[in-house]
Amino acid sequence: MSTRKRNQLKMILLGNSGVGKSSLMNQFVNKRYTNLYRATIGADFLTRDLTVDDNLVTVQVWDTAGTERFQSLGSILYRNTDCCLLVYDVTSADSFRALEGWRQEFVLQGSPRDPDTFPFLVLGNKTDLDNREVSRKLAEDWCRTHKMEHFETSAKEARNVEEVFRSGVRATLNQLKGKDRYVEHPDQVQLQTGKPSREWYCTC
Ligand code: GDP
Ligand code: MG
Repeated sequence: MSTRKRNQLKMILLGNSGVGKSSLMNQFVNKRYTNLYRATIGADFLTRDLTVDDNLVTVQVWDTAGTERFQSLGSILYRNTDCCLLVYDVTSADSFRALEGWRQEFVLQGSPRDPDTFPFLVLGNKTDLDNREVSRKLAEDWCRTHKMEHFETSAKEARNVEEVFRSGVRATLNQLKGKDRYVEHPDQVQLQTGKPSREWYCTC
């Protein structure tokens, strides 16, 4: 019998509409890609089990429609999120510039206890295209300033998609071990005992 622990973790994809959030989710969960554009209505989530460093984790990926921005649904959507994936399109400078706003929006509405140590990952998607507007260096410099991990991906070619989600899980597990968000309830961090995962979640 496996001694691995099963826990659930919530990740959310944020970014301008059209950058490839739904495609990244679809590639990660279903290993599929379609060129057909289908606008996401409201929000949706899919799950996939992943084993990272011997932790069996059920990753719940939340996909959002850009229109949720500044609407009250935001706080409900963002609550209890463990890891936030900020997505831009490398062929759209606008989508990159919008990341700061998305980050602020998440911090404001999701209220992570310590935004400075909260796991944000930044994804530059559509690297299979050659009409690039955002250089890797520009994005890396910006991410370094904000202490966020940066990845370049292609949902179309499944480039780096698996790695991104693995890194997100790893960053989340490391942070939870660090107890940054659980100072008031240290006994509720269940990574060592394998109890159900709801208690992982920030209670703020
Ligand atoms: P969302 O609005 O952020 O959810 O974006 P979608 O996932 O719906 O993608 C918007 C459009 O970009 C669709 O036509 C996708 O097929 C396309 N797309 C998404 N990811 C990629 C990618 O990695 N490369 C290319 N070339 N197109 C992509
Ligand atoms: Mg979508």
